[in-house]
Amino acid sequence: MRVAVVGSGPAGFYAAGALLSADPPAEVDMLERLPTPWGLVRLGVAPDHPKLKSVSRAFERIAEQPGFRFLGNVEVGRDLHHADLVRLYDAVIYAVGAQTDRRLGIPGEDLPGSWAATELVAWYNGHPDFQQLDFDLSVERAVVIGNGNVALDVARMLALTHEELAPTDATDASIAAIADSSLREIVVVGRRGPAQASFTTPELQEMGELAGADVVVDPVDLEGAQPKSTNAERNFAVLQGFAAREPQGRPRRVVFRFFQSPIAILGKERVEGIELVRNELDANERAVPTEERETLACGLVFRSVGYHGVELPGVVFDAKTGTIPNEGGRVEPGVYSAGWIKRGPTGVIGTNKKDATETVVLLLEDAVAGRLQPKPDASAAAVDALLAERGVRVVEYSGWTAIDEAERAAGEKTGRPRIKLCSWDELLAAAERIASGKTS
Ligand SMILES: Cc1cc2nc3c(=O)[nH]c(=O)nc-3n(C[C@H](O)[C@H](O)[C@H](O)COP(=O)(O)OP(=O)(O)OC[C@H]3O[C@@H](n4cnc5c(N)ncnc54)[C@H](O)[C@@H]3O)c2cc1C
Repeated sequence: MRVAVVGSGPAGFYAAGALLSADPPAEVDMLERLPTPWGLVRLGVAPDHPKLKSVSRAFERIAEQPGFRFLGNVEVGRDLHHADLVRLYDAVIYAVGAQTDRRLGIPGEDLPGSWAATELVAWYNGHPDFQQLDFDLSVERAVVIGNGNVALDVARMLALTHEELAPTDATDASIAAIADSSLREIVVVGRRGPAQASFTTPELQEMGELAGADVVVDPVDLEGAQPKSTNAERNFAVLQGFAAREPQGRPRRVVFRFFQSPIAILGKERVEGIELVRNELDANERAVPTEERETLACGLVFRSVGYHGVELPGVVFDAKTGTIPNEGGRVEPGVYSAGWIKRGPTGVIGTNKKDATETVVLLLEDAVAGRLQPKPDASAAAVDALLAERGVRVVEYSGWTAIDEAERAAGEKTGRPRIKLCSWDELLAAAERIASGKTS
């Protein structure tokens, strides 16, 4: 059986792993729009968390198995279409993640200086589509909207010192820009209270361990809070600890503000401030706005209020949830989904393993029950011929390995895990140098 897995993030790799270890094993073509694999593990997870990125070792072991092919620089919807995949493979698994951000839907959201957190994340992580973005870090205060781990990542990254950033694989440009920025204060705004925040505790705790930034929590925000889960209780204890601290006079401050929602981003030519409204919680712990408003001067706003999947031409899509409608990962016999595009943008890297395995179990059930249509055209040669006919510069796994080796070698000289190649030209050139036997 030949299966196309679209997307090479955790969900794609875990799905591939389950398919390759099936009895009999399936052949897997992993189609990825970038020349590099690993999805958000490479381009989302914060560079100062190298241990989390090391899950890529497990993905490498999957990629080394017989029957696996990586076809990078192949975008489904542009280079190959759903109809091609249905013709050329016995089954297709979409594992394309959630490629866009949720908007706040408030005035001023499109002013220069108002960004999706994803844009900053992709920029400091070296995503080739985001290197031209020009973040003006010559401002004193940035506001991060959201109370999840991505909001923490953004606030923390902006607060790191040069010494903290230097050993990471963040891009050189982002290290210089952040370390030399004029930022003095990063405000993290949550619409509900400290007991409702969806931070995970170790990540929250880390905010209190920054070399160059004090953490500030107003004890008033903690009064009367009723944490309802173990995670919320642990978070609350950490926040109590923060509230009891005296600032140490570090150059930057990370300030947590709870019970506030943005209602407008203000400014003429660019962001100059943000208008916040005070909320109360109703009996169901929903945020209800009061009459109390406040304007906070700031030069940057990062919204981190969730992600949203993107529709692929020819594939069913639920625009409300931003997912491909499915039952346990089965869209219909022969078409499946896994990861964020299946269940929505929640959960950690490991969550995608159970999720992708569930999908593959259904796919294999369909195969055994004879529910997959016979595909006389399904062959690697037919896929290669079509890609060649369309002039696609496919990056195979050996091409990615060449990129990987070049990046690691560059990093080794300065004690960093890697120095990423972060333009399309550099990435494709590094991949193709090896393919053509040149190893300069
Ligand atoms: C900023 C951020 C930080 C995070 N930090 C952590 C963390 O520290 N720890 C943790 O456990 N989890 C973290 N997560 C969550 C974790 O990254 C996700 O659970 C996981 O990446 C989701 O996996 P996925 O495979 O569904 O999607 P993704 O990882 O997004 O992978 C999708 C892949 O599909 C490709 N693709 C998209 N469209 C197409 C197309 N049309 N054709 C071909 N390929 C396509 C993309 O390029 C991408 O490589 C973080 C998430 C974010 C956003």
